[in-house]
Amino acid sequence: MSNQLSERVNNLAISATLEMAAKARELKAAGKDIIGLSLGEPDFNTPDYIKEAAIQAVNDNYNSYSPVDGYVDLKEAIITKFKRDNKLTYTLPQIVVSTGAKQSLYNVAQACLNKGDEVILPCPYWVSYSDIVKLAEGVPVEVETSMDTNFKMTPEQLEAAITPKTKMLWYSSPCNPTGSIYSKAELRALADVLQKHPQIVVVSDEIYEHINYGVTAHASMAEFPDMFDRTVTVNGVAKAFAMTGWRIGYIGAPAYIARACNKLQGQVTSGANCIAQRAVITALLEPVSRIQYMVDKFKERRKLILGLLQDIPGFKSNEPEGAFYVFPDVSAYFGKTLNGIKINNSSDLSMYLLETANVATVAGDSFGNNNCIRISYAASEAQITEAMARIKKAVS
Ligand code: PMP
Ligand code: GLU
Repeated sequence: MSNQLSERVNNLAISATLEMAAKARELKAAGKDIIGLSLGEPDFNTPDYIKEAAIQAVNDNYNSYSPVDGYVDLKEAIITKFKRDNKLTYTLPQIVVSTGAKQSLYNVAQACLNKGDEVILPCPYWVSYSDIVKLAEGVPVEVETSMDTNFKMTPEQLEAAITPKTKMLWYSSPCNPTGSIYSKAELRALADVLQKHPQIVVVSDEIYEHINYGVTAHASMAEFPDMFDRTVTVNGVAKAFAMTGWRIGYIGAPAYIARACNKLQGQVTSGANCIAQRAVITALLEPVSRIQYMVDKFKERRKLILGLLQDIPGFKSNEPEGAFYVFPDVSAYFGKTLNGIKINNSSDLSMYLLETANVATVAGDSFGNNNCIRISYAASEAQITEAMARIKKAVS
C-alpha cells in the first residue's frame, strides 16, 4: 500500500530533542557508554513533598475525569502563583491546565491561528515552536539574533518583521536554548513596538522562570497593563520542580483564548492526569525556596561547563542567565575534516560528537540557528567533566 499519511504529518519534522534522546537511549541499550546531554530534563527526582501529595491523591481516590481545564483548586493555586511570583492577576476563566506546556502551546496555536497567519519567532527558539505553528497552518517568521545581543531580539528587528499578516509573537524567557533572559525594560521596548500593532497576540513561555541565576530578574510581558489583554503566559512544572514526566502545563490568558483552548482540549485529550494535577497544587503553593537547591546545583554546573568550554578550541559561548543549556557557536569547524569526517553544519558536528565522543547534544539548526549546538548541563558534575573532555579530544 502506498503512503496514506496526511501531508500534515508527512511535512512535520521529528522533534530534534526527543529524536536525539531516543538515539542516545538506543546506543546506550546497545552497550555504548553514551553521555546524554541532549534532553532538557533535570537529573533530580521530584521532591518528596510533591510525591507525597500524589500518593495522598491516589489514596483519596482521585480516579475520575477532572474538569477539562483543570481542578478548580489547582486553577486557584495557579492564580496564587501568578500573583505571588509574577504580579499577574488572573481569574478562574483565564486559566487552563494541560498535559504539559507543550500541549498548552499547541492549544494556543490551534485556537488563534488561521492559514497563513504569521508568527514571529526570535531565533534561536525552542524546537517545537515552528512545527506547532505549522500544524496550525501558521507561518513561522524567524528573526535572526546573534551572540552580540545575547541572542535577544531588538525592538527594531521586531518592527521590521511585522507585516499585515502578523498574528503572534512567541518567545521563551529564560530562553531554551540560549539561557537569555529579557529584562523588564527590554520587554517594555518590545511592547512599545507592539502598541502600534494591536492585532498581535504574545505568547510568553516562562517555563524556566525559576531557573534564574540572578543576573536579570524574571519579568512577564503580561505585567504591563497595556499588554495583559493580549498576552498568553505559558508555564509548567516540568523543569523547576523536576516533574518532566508528570505532564502538567498551564496558561494564564485572555478569557476568550482560554475558553477556546478549553473547547479544543475537550475534544482532544480532556483534563490532564488527575493525580499529577493534585500533586501540582502542592508544588505551586509551597514556597519556591524549597526547590532552590536544584537551581543552586544548576548554577554550579553552569560555572563548571562554561569553564570547560573555554578550553575547547572553536567553541564560543555566551553566558546563559537561566535555564540549563549552553549554546556554543561551533561554526569554526564548518568546512573542516575531523578524523576523516567532513563537518559542514551543526548537525554534522552533533552527529560526529555522538559517534566519536559518545556525547549526545542537539544541533542548532532545529532551534533556527545553524552555527551552534545545544548542550544541556542538567547532568552530574562527573558527566559534564567527562563529556567536555571527550568533546575536546574528538575535535582536536
Ligand atoms: N517550552 C519550553 C521552552 C521548553 O523547553 C519545554 C520543554 N519541555 C516546553 C515548553 C514543554 O514543556 P512540558 O514538558 O511541560 O511540555
Ligand atoms: N524541552 C526539553 C528540551 O528542549 C524536553 C524535550 C522536548 O520536549 O523537546 O530538551
